[in-house]
Amino acid sequence: MFKTLKKWFYLYILRRKYYRVGSCNACGKCCQKIYVKHRHVIQTEEEFEQLKSMHDFYTYLKVVDKDETGLVFECENLDKETHKCKIHKKRPGICRRYPQEELFTMGGSLAQHCGYKLVPIESFEEVFEKVQKKSERK
Ligand code: SF4
Ligand code: SF4
Repeated sequence: MFKTLKKWFYLYILRRKYYRVGSCNACGKCCQKIYVKHRHVIQTEEEFEQLKSMHDFYTYLKVVDKDETGLVFECENLDKETHKCKIHKKRPGICRRYPQEELFTMGGSLAQHCGYKLVPIESFEEVFEKVQKKSERK
């Protein structure tokens, strides 16, 4: 019963497609390769400059690369030796909620060896059945 309610809540209230399972093993990888999305994935330093006043989190970031997805940032709060966050207790909400499925829609992926997994809420068979029912109704 709890499982069914949870599934319904995630699918229809939160509008999620994945459950986040697992836990952080503090590898620090996600703090070293960050994309910023604001309407679209940020592509230029000029665009990024305009965002900085919108949230403290952006002031922690510096550009380290650019790839086919967009600008790649690294967070200056990451301690390079320990791989720990220097402001762990005060880290922004976006860091606390990481990883979220939006990562996939941005073209990103979980860091190798990340302790989390994003698991589809509905199985392939369930999605297939839904699509079939919809097309039968037409
Ligand atoms: S604030 Fe901390 S947890 Fe967030 S990206 Fe920076 S180093 Fe990582
Ligand atoms: S990549 Fe995953 S395991 Fe590593 S610090 Fe980020 S959330 Fe934690």
